[in-house]
Amino acid sequence: ALIEKKLYLNRYRVDAGRPHIRIKDAEICATRCEAQACVVCCPAGCWSSESGRVSLITDGCLECGTCRIICDQFNNVDWDYPRGGFGILYKFG
Ligand code: SF4
Repeated sequence: ALIEKKLYLNRYRVDAGRPHIRIKDAEICATRCEAQACVVCCPAGCWSSESGRVSLITDGCLECGTCRIICDQFNNVDWDYPRGGFGILYKFG
């Protein structure tokens, strides 16, 4: 698909050991959040759920902010932009 081709043009620099997004309290995801919308809404597929436990790997994050906004019930996403020089480097064209 076209979007995959466009995404392939982007480059990603991982800030190892310093994820720019964190789950504040994993127990809330596991025991109180039924929707777990982050898992389906992230366009980069950073979020996953196994046996009800949500995990997050921020490599490849597009910095779109969807996960922060979608978690409006519990506000359980600690979200920041990556440090300068890390994260997604968009290339257009
Ligand atoms: Fe996924 Fe967007 Fe959240 Fe990054 S900011 S983890 S791309 S939903």
